[in-house]
Amino acid sequence: MTVETVVEKETRAAFGQLRLDGVTRRFGKAVALSGFDLRIEGGEFIALLGPSGCGKSTALNCLAGLLPLSDGAIWLDEERIDTLPPEKRGFGMVFQNYALFPHLSVRKNVAFGLSVRRTGKAETARRVDEALRTVELTEHADKLPGQLSGGQQQRVAIARAIVLRPKLVLMDEPLSNLDAKLRVQMRTEIRRIHQTLGLTTVYVTHDQEEALALADRVVVLRSGKVEQIGTPEEVYTYPASTYIAGFMGYRNLLELPVLSVADGRVTLGEKDGLALTGIGQQPISGGRAVAAIRPEDFRVGDAGAENRVSVRVEVSEFHGREVAAEGVTDDGRVVHFKLPERIAPGERVTLTVQPERVLVFGESVREAAEALDEPVETGAQDGG
Ligand code: ATP
Repeated sequence: MTVETVVEKETRAAFGQLRLDGVTRRFGKAVALSGFDLRIEGGEFIALLGPSGCGKSTALNCLAGLLPLSDGAIWLDEERIDTLPPEKRGFGMVFQNYALFPHLSVRKNVAFGLSVRRTGKAETARRVDEALRTVELTEHADKLPGQLSGGQQQRVAIARAIVLRPKLVLMDEPLSNLDAKLRVQMRTEIRRIHQTLGLTTVYVTHDQEEALALADRVVVLRSGKVEQIGTPEEVYTYPASTYIAGFMGYRNLLELPVLSVADGRVTLGEKDGLALTGIGQQPISGGRAVAAIRPEDFRVGDAGAENRVSVRVEVSEFHGREVAAEGVTDDGRVVHFKLPERIAPGERVTLTVQPERVLVFGESVREAAEALDEPVETGAQDGG
């Protein structure tokens, strides 16, 4: 029997379902998390996603028992656990800053939790060896944390959590201190460990790519409330709001008056200006609406398409496989798109996009502002 199957046997199916019912946390009058409902099945990988301040860490800390709830309850199968202290919940935590003991070897860091639980010597040695093998750190067991790279230190932190065979592993932005390349490697590593050990994981991140790559289901939070829960495919393809669309790479959020609505297709536009037809994601009756378009869904050239956008190129950046470009329409709207090769600033191009690739939301473009890293372009007609 391999090491992995030993650990697997002992940790798999630690519970059937974890239930958060109306979990609410207030700080004075401020509501950090409001009526959070979620069912987590044993073995699932859940990502809590949202920008800074949306309540992700509050949710995780409520689960861990580090923060008491202001309202609501948490159930592990038939047992109510929100009233239990952290150590009685049997959850493991992995933080952004690793929180390793600098004066203890890797092996002793990993063994620490077991010694607190007074686990016997032989059993401790066996479990620490298993955990180190799972995170592929066996040969570094006698080093101090300071002698390891950031990624290795994070793996020690993971080993320290999994050695306790937690029912649930909680991770709060564990990769944010690593450089881009290592982040991607460690992401795969975390998914592998989750699968190998049959863990149940709740993972907090503000990085949508990380959430989509890792999770079985993504929970998007906004101002302390759930905005959407779905598989990565669902959230990516059918974002429930402009806010989520902005977060999921729909960088172009163009607010325009509604001209017509028929059979789910919505045409937006201005007289003698930009006109776009897309698919309504919500009931839309009139007024203004937002067309959400990914940069990669624009094509260069005007062959026979109904959605034509003429822009003057301002910037085009070489990104290896493609060129990312920014252009401006005649009415001053910034449009992000991709090009096969660089184009000189000042040149004009016509872009087209299939109506099926244009999502129309009956909301204000400002709804998305929090989700984007940049000021939202509302265009000259928006009135500021
Ligand atoms: P970040 O990614 O920046 O950590 P987050 O999504 O994890 O953000 P939380 O830390 O959960 O957000 O905070 C949610 C809200 O609750 C924020 O508005 C925050 O200011 C507030 N908050 C969090 N902790 C406290 C506290 N101890 N006292 C008062 N307000 C708090």
